[in-house]
Amino acid sequence: MNILIFGPNGSGKGTQGDLLKQKYNLAHIESGAIFRENISGGTELGKKAKAYIDRGDLVPDEITIPMILDTLKAKGAHGWLLDGFPRNMVQAEKLWEALKKAGLKLDYVVEIELPRETAKQRIMGRRLCANNNNHPNNIYIEAIKPNGEVCRVCGGALTTRSDDQDEKAINKRHDIYYDDKTGTLAAAHFFKELADKGETRYIALNGEGSIDSIKETLLSRLEKN
Ligand code: AMP
Repeated sequence: MNILIFGPNGSGKGTQGDLLKQKYNLAHIESGAIFRENISGGTELGKKAKAYIDRGDLVPDEITIPMILDTLKAKGAHGWLLDGFPRNMVQAEKLWEALKKAGLKLDYVVEIELPRETAKQRIMGRRLCANNNNHPNNIYIEAIKPNGEVCRVCGGALTTRSDDQDEKAINKRHDIYYDDKTGTLAAAHFFKELADKGETRYIALNGEGSIDSIKETLLSRLEKN
């Protein structure tokens, strides 16, 4: 099973991606994580990518595309969930070309839809529990609102991640994501058109619901096929 997942920062893409990964036992190929590993490992690739990442810019396609295609070859033989790639039209076209050339099927493309303002609010509302980062707390999401000033799960102290409060950085990332001419939404729509021609299957999910209701919808859409 080979799956692509799209969703803006703040849409819950990580959570839904985990569900897919576990259900089908997929290799999780996440472009941002591969870059971070290379940076901490001090590799040539990491050195080349670091300045772009620090600025919140995309790493150039000449570096990113071969990196992802090589990783798919090396780690994706038994199915993959590709996350964070493609981020623009060029990457989408190159990926599709490479899959066709290798005779690989793209089983599903999942897009989590969320209005830009909601995504931004969610990121800025995230709170981290000092005892456990996985305790969900968000001052703008009713279902996981903190208990006053403290963690809703364990009562631990809450903090924020500095990049979650950097409005400029959030806007820059969302500018790329919501660009439907050449950016990430354009890449997602490229696959939607392929789905219309029967070349893959496209599942669009409304990201405004609760985590559980989105999970349920995703599972039922997968099972229907
Ligand atoms: P992420 O963890 O997905 O937010 O990615 C972190 C950073 O890695 C991004 O802000 C980009 O600088 C870089 N990056 C990740 N994926 C890509 C991609 N597909 N194309 C170009 N740059 C990327």
